[in-house]
Amino acid sequence: MKTSTPPNSSPTLAINGGERAITTDAPESWLLGPSEIGKEEIDAVVRVLESKRLFRFLKNRSDSSVAQFEDLFAEMSGAKNALAVNSGTSALICGLVGIGVSQGDEVLVPAYTYIATAAAVLALGAIPILVEVDDSLTMDPEDLERKITPRSRAVVPVHMRGMPCDMEAILGVTERHGLLVLEDCAQANGATYRNRAVGTWGNAGAFSLQEFKVITAGEGGVVITNDKDVFNRAAVYHDSAYAFWMEGRLKTGEGASTELDAWKDMCFLGENYRLSEVHGAIALEQLKKRDRILTRTRAIKRRLSAACAAIPGSQPEKNHDVDGECGIALALFMESPEEAVRLSEALKAEGVVCGTRFSRDIPDRHIFFHWDYVLEKRSPHRNGFPWTSNPSHIPEYTKDMCPKTIDRMSRAVIFSITQNMSDTYVDQVCFAIEKVAGGFIASTKT
Ligand SMILES: *Cc1c(COP(=O)(O)O)cnc(C)c1O
Repeated sequence: MKTSTPPNSSPTLAINGGERAITTDAPESWLLGPSEIGKEEIDAVVRVLESKRLFRFLKNRSDSSVAQFEDLFAEMSGAKNALAVNSGTSALICGLVGIGVSQGDEVLVPAYTYIATAAAVLALGAIPILVEVDDSLTMDPEDLERKITPRSRAVVPVHMRGMPCDMEAILGVTERHGLLVLEDCAQANGATYRNRAVGTWGNAGAFSLQEFKVITAGEGGVVITNDKDVFNRAAVYHDSAYAFWMEGRLKTGEGASTELDAWKDMCFLGENYRLSEVHGAIALEQLKKRDRILTRTRAIKRRLSAACAAIPGSQPEKNHDVDGECGIALALFMESPEEAVRLSEALKAEGVVCGTRFSRDIPDRHIFFHWDYVLEKRSPHRNGFPWTSNPSHIPEYTKDMCPKTIDRMSRAVIFSITQNMSDTYVDQVCFAIEKVAGGFIASTKT
């Protein structure tokens, strides 16, 4: 055993009355996209207002901010098609319609994701089946395979916290079982897996432009796909008058007329998930800033990860693509929930912004345990649809049905990362982590 460190060499932890490691100001905002809002977004919105046309389909494609946003998003993702919609939830709904999920289908979703992933499945009358997460806190491919039934139709892997799922293993499973894939990329805008954008690995990908995501338009979303049929189905569903606008386009000679007949025949009911030109203008300017944000967050995460290696008893998160992930959050696991709380409290006392994630009492809607309306099968319909439509096939949901997910979530300490952390601030966070690590070593020795 090494005994070279005298017991009083580590400075007193702030939690034990010592001085705080972090003395410099914390970032003014921890939000990613919103803190980049500047002249570009403001001018773009003003231009839309001055045009006095806020509706995308009464403009030529070349004059529409929404269309320009779609084109740039498709290009930056390397996807053939992009459809802008008005939220991440509507992107999921349109994506599910696009790939062909129907009422009664089972759709496998991870037990750790925002509740909207499950809600989108239910909105179509399909049934969410919960899958455990692995040490990256994304869908565990082995548990996915175990949860497949003859009624399974599709899988929604969710790239939580900007971390790509184990797509190779997941696609191996979906190919073996003939399942469709819609990637939920709401938290992973700009992430790549093996140098290819997330959202292009499955049959389609869904993104969110809500305020807490990498880039934002206040609200908004995008569906991307390389499959023209999937795109057409999603586009038709996103607008109850889609055929009408496209026929108008055709008359003015705009748009791909050869494809028109094909999708006109399959036109079905649509709703309204359109994005406005005002939102499109903001989204377009934010998109141009996306990769700059991620270059910074990734660099910061590397430094924090290195510092965390010193924490005794900690295990780093699994990372399925170190270079491609967004770098917007960092997780590590302790051996027990109590240790996770002890570490997180010590770090917080030093001024580090971090925390544990699972609590029975705090209703965090990102963990299935707190998906009350799913677990309790509440429905907006008088007849209880879809829970009542085929009772013999409806699963039982319980709060302990995904114990590995609860175990991982309760042992995790998660650090927030934003591009707004100054170099000095990052230095001090690293110092704080090392200081607490040293304190933990000292405390385990006495
Ligand atoms: C935010 C989010 C959604 C929903 O996006 P909205 O734009 O809020 O509708 C879906 N899935 C995940 C993983 C999310 O984080």
